[in-house]
Amino acid sequence: MDNRTNVKARYWESMEEDKVKCTLCPHGCVINNGKFGICMVRRNVNGELIASGYGHTISLTMDPIEKKPLFHFKPGSSILSVGPNGCNLKCMWCQNWQISQKKVITRFISPENLVNMALREKSVGVAFTYTEPLIWLEYIVDAALIGKPKGLSMVAVTNGYINSEPLDELLNYLDAVNIDLKSMFDEDYKKYMGGTLAPVLNTIKKCSERIFVEVTNLIIPGINDSDEHIHKLVDFIASVNPTIPLHFSRYHPYYKMDNPITPEKTLLHAAKIAQEKLKFVYIGNIKLPGFEDTKCPVCGNMLINRTYYFTKKVGITEERKCSKCGADIDFVH
Ligand code: SF4
Repeated sequence: MDNRTNVKARYWESMEEDKVKCTLCPHGCVINNGKFGICMVRRNVNGELIASGYGHTISLTMDPIEKKPLFHFKPGSSILSVGPNGCNLKCMWCQNWQISQKKVITRFISPENLVNMALREKSVGVAFTYTEPLIWLEYIVDAALIGKPKGLSMVAVTNGYINSEPLDELLNYLDAVNIDLKSMFDEDYKKYMGGTLAPVLNTIKKCSERIFVEVTNLIIPGINDSDEHIHKLVDFIASVNPTIPLHFSRYHPYYKMDNPITPEKTLLHAAKIAQEKLKFVYIGNIKLPGFEDTKCPVCGNMLINRTYYFTKKVGITEERKCSKCGADIDFVH
């Protein structure tokens, strides 16, 4: 049976007594023989690091690309979406904890089959998503090597918690990312997620230099909803590139977090702050009229109208210009 249980991982070092040190993400797990790293998809087998989660997916489905969310990359298209069983962060509010924080039954899909399925479904590409896909580096690279020459785009929805060197390699294969920026305070990353902030900021900067980027911020009352936090977040994104689309997302109590649901007014207030410095600000996980649509940042003309996942391009030309004022719009068709 083809389930490639012996795919050697990239980015690790040998240590004494058959231990290995994984260098894919900032955790730098030192792993004893027979054990897994924090993310559950990389395992020490007799002193070698194996990408044990390679191709083992927890879900495989066609999704609207807006669901990722990616609003400016091939809007209105559908994309084949897959994800591994694991994650390298431990967010207390994880909305997918059943598949990210504990082992479940998976289905092996070879990169060849994945690409064939995407082509058969007339997908625009493959989205690596649901849990944390960058810990699947070897699988993403193999799928991209087969799929990109056939015209498929490769996108990832990620927490951005990865070291610079593997990220540089991955950026040769990815076309677009949505990066979850969960807080602008290192203490929050340590206390609530088991990580650190700096690598995530580094990932956003590096990605924006090479591929298409959108950012999501889940606003959680009592944790990251202060004006200070929102200003810090917006200032950072504006300093990277004010045309990066920012998605504020509504939080619901889940997993180990019982803070109350994000009030509508908090989301609207955050969007108002963001609109002062960013060109494209959206609100998700809640239906707020107008906050899913894309308007021209120069003249206000409606460019893309969205109702749930029904997307209609109404004011943007094939040359990626506003049909009313002719402003250039940073979209990928
Ligand atoms: S990718 Fe996984 S095994 Fe490697 S350092 Fe990060 S959490 Fe540990």
